[in-house]
Amino acid sequence: MRRQLVIGNWKMNGSSASSSNLLSELLVGLNAGRVDAAEMAVCVPYVYLSAAADAIKGSSLKLGAQNVSQFDSGAYTGEVSPSMLADLGCHYVLVGHSERRSLFGESSQIVAEKFVAAQASGLTPVLCVGETLEEREAGSTLAVVESQIAAVIESVGPEGLLNSVIAYEPVWAIGTGLTATPEQAQEVHQYIRRCLGEAGEKICILYGGSVKASSAGELFAQADIDGGLVGGASLQGEEFLAIGQAAK
Ligand code: PEP
Repeated sequence: MRRQLVIGNWKMNGSSASSSNLLSELLVGLNAGRVDAAEMAVCVPYVYLSAAADAIKGSSLKLGAQNVSQFDSGAYTGEVSPSMLADLGCHYVLVGHSERRSLFGESSQIVAEKFVAAQASGLTPVLCVGETLEEREAGSTLAVVESQIAAVIESVGPEGLLNSVIAYEPVWAIGTGLTATPEQAQEVHQYIRRCLGEAGEKICILYGGSVKASSAGELFAQADIDGGLVGGASLQGEEFLAIGQAAK
């Protein structure tokens, strides 16, 4: 059976105080056994990673970053390398989030380089893929998602995806309050598994896009959905814990 995983993406939100309060709230809930079936992780802004690593030490909560450089060291002003993230205690790192692709011009080739660099430093990359509304309306959802994954397969082969997580996040559902129906999400998740052949049966594939406690149960009950990547709702401790509880 594949593991269940719920990852929070805090994006560029919060302060030292609010991050610390949110982590405390999550730790109280997790230590009380509120979430039993899913591993829980939070992708925190770079500047709060170190404090977060200290705060969650010894707990079941895992730490992740939201982005990473494809280079490991050198003259790349403003960048953060995979080995730096590993050094801080990060377990996961998002690569290819749609906001990185659309706002910061990250091509599928760059995303593949980040994926490879993250794995080389012992991090587990969370490869984000998904179609825009125009692409869905044009009937090219499956082709878009396949080509985003193919860019990574070209570098590492399907087996190379085994030490990773894939997050299917329709762009039109991210931060919009619109959620893919369980059937829409299941169709894409099943297709992704087929594209990956044997490896596809073992890979953890998350759904992301305006997931809330009220929608998580039905989404996570789909055969090929192994949990969620959660943006806005992960900023509220109770709501995020309730999403974690929805994983069975
Ligand atoms: C995300 O940032 O990956 C995301 C899914 O955001 P939201 O849950 O707010 O749509």
